[in-house]
Amino acid sequence: MASKSFIQSLPKAELHLHLEGSVDPATVAELSRRYNTPLPTENNRYDVAGSGDVLTEDDVRRLYSYKDFNGFLMAFKSVTERLRSPEDYELVTYRLIALRFPRWMAIVVTVGASRRVRQPRWGRSGSSRT
Ligand SMILES: [Zn+2]
Repeated sequence: MASKSFIQSLPKAELHLHLEGSVDPATVAELSRRYNTPLPTENNRYDVAGSGDVLTEDDVRRLYSYKDFNGFLMAFKSVTERLRSPEDYELVTYRLIALRFPRWMAIVVTVGASRRVRQPRWGRSGSSRT
């Protein structure tokens, strides 16, 4: 039987990862300095309190050490409200790859709902196209 230390030393693969949940504290702090203004409130159905706060790296580490689901939601909100432009997503993606996957990575991006595609119609016998 393999020892625990041997198993822990084996390379691991991340099979499923959410980008917004993988932003390192230094990058969130950097984004919060970039966006030190609250999110606009018009047509916004969410609470944007704290969206313009400048967070230090230690603040983000405290946010990330949540103890319950509400804490997780607050940490997730703190990250997502600071991702405001395509360049921000570029930055967090680049940092994620550099910090956690320096050797290799395969990326599959899923954006929104899948598109409905019309299936070809087949004849009654199923042998001819119409
Ligand atoms: Zn998921």
